[in-house]
Amino acid sequence: MKIEEGHMKIPVHRFYKNTRKLVLFRGIRYYKENRAALEKQVDNTYYFDVQGEKNLYHVVLNIADDDTIVFASCDCPYSEAGYCKHQVSAFLDVLKRQDRLDIQDLQNKEGLKEKHKSEIAPKGWSAEDFKKLQEFNVADYLNSFRREELIFIMINYMKQDMKLFMYLFHHYIVELERNKIKDWS
Ligand SMILES: [Zn+2]
Repeated sequence: MKIEEGHMKIPVHRFYKNTRKLVLFRGIRYYKENRAALEKQVDNTYYFDVQGEKNLYHVVLNIADDDTIVFASCDCPYSEAGYCKHQVSAFLDVLKRQDRLDIQDLQNKEGLKEKHKSEIAPKGWSAEDFKKLQEFNVADYLNSFRREELIFIMINYMKQDMKLFMYLFHHYIVELERNKIKDWS
């Protein structure tokens, strides 16, 4: 699951600021191939099904009244920085619906600035700590906790920041929708 929440507010039409150039181009291709299908729109929340190479992915975009991106999620395995191609194709569809899609113009934009691991440690970080950060395997670390400990940590985190809560809620809603479809067949 890919969920991207900007640290700064990005307007929808500037989503490319948080997208790698290669991913942007792939997303444009996906859009042109009509892979993004809007399944549902509830106020400013858009639910897309995007046909990937093999699997169908679910993209949810939530856009604030001031046109900035609140959150964008996708359940594909993409784990690099920035939005994935499924999210890109969904953003393009939203822009098209609002009659402000200019693909030609988009192709000339500068995307996400690539960050390299060889960067020197940021202010306030010792080189040693920074090295530890780069080598930190969060999956392994999470594996070291017991289930109850993980729940405790997650709930505590949610008390400070709702993003994880919304992320889980999205998961829950997608599951509900999936089960509804199951009931029909
Ligand atoms: Zn994706």
